[in-house]
Amino acid sequence: MSLRAQLSSGVNSLEAVRSIVGVGRPASLRDILARYQQPIVIDEPLVTPDGIALGGHHTITLGRDGSVRHQGHMRATGFPSFTFGVRTVLVNDAGVPAVAIASGRVHGTSELGDRVSTWDQSAPNPLVALHWAAMKRSRPETSINRDADFFGTIGDVLGFVGSLAVGAVVAGPAGVCIVLGVHTADLAGFDEHLGIAGLAGVAVAGGVLVVFGPGAIIPAIVAGAAAGTAVELAIKHRPMEAPERAFAERVFGPTLPVDRIVLTNLLGIGKRPFTIPSIGRAILVNLGAGFNDPIGYAGFGDPDNPEQQAPGQLFIHELVHAWQIDTETFLPGLMCEAIGAQLTTLGGNMDVYRYGAAGQAFSEYNPEQRASIVDDWFAGSGKQARLDEQRAVEDDSNPYFRYVRDNIRNRIP
Ligand SMILES: [Zn+2]
Repeated sequence: MSLRAQLSSGVNSLEAVRSIVGVGRPASLRDILARYQQPIVIDEPLVTPDGIALGGHHTITLGRDGSVRHQGHMRATGFPSFTFGVRTVLVNDAGVPAVAIASGRVHGTSELGDRVSTWDQSAPNPLVALHWAAMKRSRPETSINRDADFFGTIGDVLGFVGSLAVGAVVAGPAGVCIVLGVHTADLAGFDEHLGIAGLAGVAVAGGVLVVFGPGAIIPAIVAGAAAGTAVELAIKHRPMEAPERAFAERVFGPTLPVDRIVLTNLLGIGKRPFTIPSIGRAILVNLGAGFNDPIGYAGFGDPDNPEQQAPGQLFIHELVHAWQIDTETFLPGLMCEAIGAQLTTLGGNMDVYRYGAAGQAFSEYNPEQRASIVDDWFAGSGKQARLDEQRAVEDDSNPYFRYVRDNIRNRIP
């Protein structure tokens, strides 16, 4: 494994790694890397303010490979019973917070029932591996909530988790909060019927619109919503219509998961479109201002950005991400602009989209490069524009056409 591969997003030098792991000089490369790879273990008592007969302990363990385990218990130590929530946010200067949640009910001597509520859940999260450097320099901020009203109905779980995480998310430049795990003892947990405006996995939390994807929470806005409009009323979503399916078929053939795709007018942080697997089987293709007429729309999703590209090009780009979500096993950063790319593009660096010469295997390009190869092929733009400036739209003699023909149309990632 190369040194580069052993590091992670946002880490460019050994000096950066040295400062993350806190190894003084002189330290061997081997020492530094070994410390960097060591698991992160947060082990702490769960202590409520004086006089509250409730307490416990928990341990959160994160592995370099993205493994996550959250174990713990809470106990009622006196007369009253409690419904509790334990939230730990890993805060870091990279703006990639992570949150672990556990909730349940413990019974005091005032009533029958278990005095102790335990949890032990493991779920790998590729975002932990991707943002390992940020995780490595995080500090935990744990709080205990014992307000039963928080957990009154199942729908509140989304709002609860979102509100806990959202302050940190909005403050951070990356616009993502990694969800390490949500354990809800008495509730069924996330469910594809949850959501607002009939859109699964979308909630308003702490006044902010958030989208729940696998292992992450992403704040979102509604493109062009008038100030003062209730967000629930401004969100639009729908399946792909027949002309849009036919349009997409020109590029994808029959390989696009059209029945999973839900088009929306949402945008991520930085007013960027993004595509994300949502709760259940749905894939949210968030087109912002491109929602009403994806085939004819020539912008970049942000209604205030005058830049233009070919009509339909944004639609094709985001549909490539939907195709990736459907055909590829989960890739960290696959959620497009909202997570992977934004980390590097908010500062104006668009390198993550730039791809090299045709010839390598499709899988050797990163997910954004793959999407750009396809949308440039569709539009005859970017690196695939012809020197005579005639647009070589959907050009079969273009050297990048092989990826559309051999990979996209054959469902080979
Ligand atoms: Zn993209």
